[in-house]
Amino acid sequence: MAKYKLEYIWLDGYTPVPNLRAKTQVKEYDSFPTLEQLPMWGFDGSSTKQAEGRSSDCMLKPVAVYPDTTRRNGVLVMCEVMMPDGVTPHPSNTRATILDDPGAWFGFEQEYFLFQDGKPLGFPSDGFPSPQGEYYCGVGYKAVGDIARQIVEEHLDICLDAGINHEGINAEVAKGQWEFQIFGKGSKRAADQIWAARFILNRLCEKYGIDVEYHCKPIRGDWNGSGMHANFSTDYMREKGGKEYFEALMAQFAENLEEHIAVYGPDNHLRLTGLHETQSIDKFTYGLADRGSSIRMPHSFMNAGYKGYLEDRRPNSQGDPYQIASRILKTISEVPTP
Ligand code: ADP
Ligand code: MN
Ligand code: MN
Ligand code: MN
Repeated sequence: MAKYKLEYIWLDGYTPVPNLRAKTQVKEYDSFPTLEQLPMWGFDGSSTKQAEGRSSDCMLKPVAVYPDTTRRNGVLVMCEVMMPDGVTPHPSNTRATILDDPGAWFGFEQEYFLFQDGKPLGFPSDGFPSPQGEYYCGVGYKAVGDIARQIVEEHLDICLDAGINHEGINAEVAKGQWEFQIFGKGSKRAADQIWAARFILNRLCEKYGIDVEYHCKPIRGDWNGSGMHANFSTDYMREKGGKEYFEALMAQFAENLEEHIAVYGPDNHLRLTGLHETQSIDKFTYGLADRGSSIRMPHSFMNAGYKGYLEDRRPNSQGDPYQIASRILKTISEVPTP
């Protein structure tokens, strides 16, 4: 028997962007616990905008479990928030809104800034660094500074050790801006992993005295904002596809423009301007390899005859991947497959 540190992680009730919350309980197991072995737990919802003071209990239902190599016998436990009955999802529980399609695959590209003293890491204390241009995938102190690479590398290792399916990392277009990509078969699996990876990054940065800035446009002016492009495919898109289905799907995305934008992250009008590799927030367009469109068809998609995955470029870095996946799957479900 060994004592395991179970870090129960959940999303609080703040809007429009929930915060990550977590607390530890210690339990004994023969070996690393499985999801089925993890008990439900409770917390004080009145401290997280999830309950009134008089009846403040909310429940935590474990839904995903990852090893945490930063702690001895560490376990990360992603949870859904439930009502006191333990079976009804709490209104803040956006994961419960996903009508999961096991054949749906999602790849999220999480962009973010590392911030120190209220500005991007590497910005001088007065004014601005050289304009963007040479930072994207850059190497060398001038491009990425000293500490950032250490953080992103450490983050990558902790995530890989946890079994999180990172597909890559890169320095982004603005100074102090980075990206990681996570791919998952099953929308919940991909979205759980984005939240777990955000948790790991936020916690890692504590010891560096650095904040992770997820806002989609932290620096005004000629600096890129941060997105979270959502790449998606279903069994039908990968196996049958075709021009007719694709056009019907795009018509449905156009029809639901506002519903999509509503869950694609706050303040997105600051980022979706038609500049900096984005389409305007009030337009829906798609295009081949077009990074100025709302949805980009990769070359692989066209070459295969409208088959494969598509990239929705509109979701932003602060968006909730549960709501984003939920909305995309809803729109897909509204289009009949021939
Ligand atoms: P870019 O920066 O050019 O948009 P990235 O390589 O950063 O491209 O991201 C592409 C994403 O597409 C990756 O997260 C990858 O996992 C995802 N992806 C690849 N194939 C599929 C697929 N069939 N279904 C869903 N997502 C996919
Ligand atoms: Mn990318
Ligand atoms: Mn990017
Ligand atoms: Mn992309």
